[in-house]
Formats: sequence, C-alpha cells, structure tokens
Amino acid sequence: VPEDNTGRWRGAVAVLDAVRREPGVTRSAMAQRLGLRSGTATELAARLRELALLAESPAAPAGRGRPTTTLAAHPDGPLVLAVDVRHEDWRCAVGQLDGRMEVVAARRHDGSDPGAVLAALRRVILRARRQAGPRLRVVSVAVAGTVRELTLVQAATLGWVDVGLGGLTTGTGLPLLAGNDATLAGVAEARRGPAAGASTLLHLTVEVGIGGTLVAGGRAQTGATGAGGEFGHLPFGDRALRCPCGARGCWDLEVDGRALARHLGEPAPADARSYARRVLERAPGEPRARRALAAVAGALGAGTAGLVNAGDPDVVTLGGLAGPLRDAAPEAFAAAYADGLMAFRRPQPPPVLTAGHGEDGALRGALDAGFDVVVSEAGLAAWAARHAPAAGRAAQ
Ligand SMILES: [Zn+2]
Repeated sequence: VPEDNTGRWRGAVAVLDAVRREPGVTRSAMAQRLGLRSGTATELAARLRELALLAESPAAPAGRGRPTTTLAAHPDGPLVLAVDVRHEDWRCAVGQLDGRMEVVAARRHDGSDPGAVLAALRRVILRARRQAGPRLRVVSVAVAGTVRELTLVQAATLGWVDVGLGGLTTGTGLPLLAGNDATLAGVAEARRGPAAGASTLLHLTVEVGIGGTLVAGGRAQTGATGAGGEFGHLPFGDRALRCPCGARGCWDLEVDGRALARHLGEPAPADARSYARRVLERAPGEPRARRALAAVAGALGAGTAGLVNAGDPDVVTLGGLAGPLRDAAPEAFAAAYADGLMAFRRPQPPPVLTAGHGEDGALRGALDAGFDVVVSEAGLAAWAARHAPAAGRAAQ
C-alpha cells in the first residue's frame, strides 16, 4: 500500500474486487488479471492478510508454474448482514467478502404488519452486531417493493406504503443500504454465474408480479432516486385491469399466480407465489393448467421482447418463477419473444438464460451492494484504522 494518501487503497480495492469476482482465485491468476508483477501481488496480498482482509493458503501445484496461493476472505475479516424481505417470508444472512454466506435467521410473515416485520429484523440486526462486533460493517436490505433511498415507498402486492427502513440500524452506527429485490438480484447475476461479463444485462424476476433491472457496466440503472426498473408496471397487460400499484394495464397482472388463476377461472390466490408453484406441479396431468401456463409464458415472452427492444441488452436472465414459467411452455415463450422483437434483432436475439443464483439472488445482490461499500477506498481506510493494531500484533 503506497505511503501517499491519493489512491492509497486503489491497489487493495482491485485485489479484493478480483477475489470477490472470482472466489478462490490464486494469487498468480489475480496478478495476471490485474496486470501486476508477481512481487507486487505478493506484497499486496501480504498487507491485506495483515489487515485481516485476505487469507492465503497454498494452492495445489498446477503444471510448471511457481508455487502460488489461493485467496479467500480472512477468518476475522469484515462481514455484511444481508436481509431479503419477500412477500411471504424474510431471511437474513451474514456474508464474507468472498461470497461465503450463512443464513442466520428466517421467518414467514403474512404481510399484514410491516412494523412487526421491521421489529423482528431489528432484533436480528442487534444480535448480529453483538456477535460480530466491529467486524459487521454494513446492513444491506432487499425488499419486494419500490425503494426510494431508505423508504419502501410502495409495495403494491403487500399493500405497504411509505415504510421507513432507517430505524432498522438506529443507534448501531451501522450504515444501512436498501434496494429493490429484483434490482439487487440483477446486480448479482451480472457479476457471477451464466451472465457474468455481459456488458448490458436485462434481469427479470417473477414472484408476485414481475420486477427486474437493466445492469450496464455492473451498475443497475435505478434512476434519480433508486425507484427505477419497475418493468412490471409497463402497460403490456389488459387495459381493462387496474393494478394494485394504481396504474392500468400492468404487465405484473399477466405473468404470475394471479394471471394463472384468472386463466383457470379460479379465485384470486391469497398467496400468488405459492399458487403459481402449485399450478406448475399440476401441469403434467392437467391440460387446463398447461394452457394457462402457455398464456403466461407468452405474456412473459412478449414483454421480454419489448424490454429487449428498449434496453438493448446482450443477455437476458430469468429469476424466481420466471425460469420455471418459461420452461413450462417453452414454445409459447419462444414464439412470443421472437414475435415481439424488432425485425433487425431476430437473426441474433439476446439469449434468455435461467438466472444462476436461484432463491438467493436478492440476498447475494444485497451482499454485493454491502461489500461495494466495505471494499471502497473509504471503507478500507475505516477498516484499517480500526484493525491495524490487532493486525500488527498478528503479523509479528
Ligand atoms: Zn402496476
């Protein structure tokens, strides 16, 4: 780490970001990726080890290369608490810099009382703070709703309006981040998994309704206040239907369990996500269910094409139920997708992949957002100020 303050942490940020992108990367591979001389990489890794940021262990010898080490999170390194509040449940996980994560609390909720959910989350946060002490650096929350700064301004399908999240960390001194769950999941998809390396990624997630984001250059395009990316509230649906969000004709109403129930002539489900899963299970033995799924897959494909026309991604990923819904009626999806694309796109449409993070997308994205703060020049300077004395002792 250079002595002067300008860019003091730049090299450290680059090394740690390489480990975040590629957990278990060897020191020599990291040096190659970053264009560092071997000696510089060794020195940087040693300093980060002393600061309890990296752990190095001997790597299995590969070919004729010099012996190298595998880089991972330090066992006493910084932690982020990630929270994912969904329609029917919430989960909290503690994650390390190299992506290792442990779910520390999870509970179902019925959506009726945001105050009770927040109180339960605050207890988890306070407990994590007690257990991890100063190692816990950031709390990062993903919510199934529209988030503007630290307020959940509207969670149409939960019926929550203007729920302030800031109180979650009051008095703890911990920075709090909050974002939409589908947006955060898209950030995770753009960084790791089948879509990693896409220059512009369109990520779509169906849970109750459909959310998503366009991630360009690793950054989710969330607008002026963070509330952008509400693709489910584009008027790709039936203009006769009013959406709980307040708008008319929303795509949200065509692609989830509510749409399946309408097509099947069944009552609107209290729990659209679980209902959609049950319809997917019924499909093999029930032609009506298959027809309903084909209608939903078609609505999903058509809207995806519209967003591809608008956003020009090179890859599309489908998270949550979007992948299973597409896979339940792949021809209906493919036909509607092709039909909705502008002619010039049809010879080479962006591939539509199943997202790589499964149920963990939003938690992973929240961790990524948290570690973006920890592994910044300011974040590392704060960590080092706190940890340098202890690290110095350990290094003697
Ligand atoms: Zn809407």
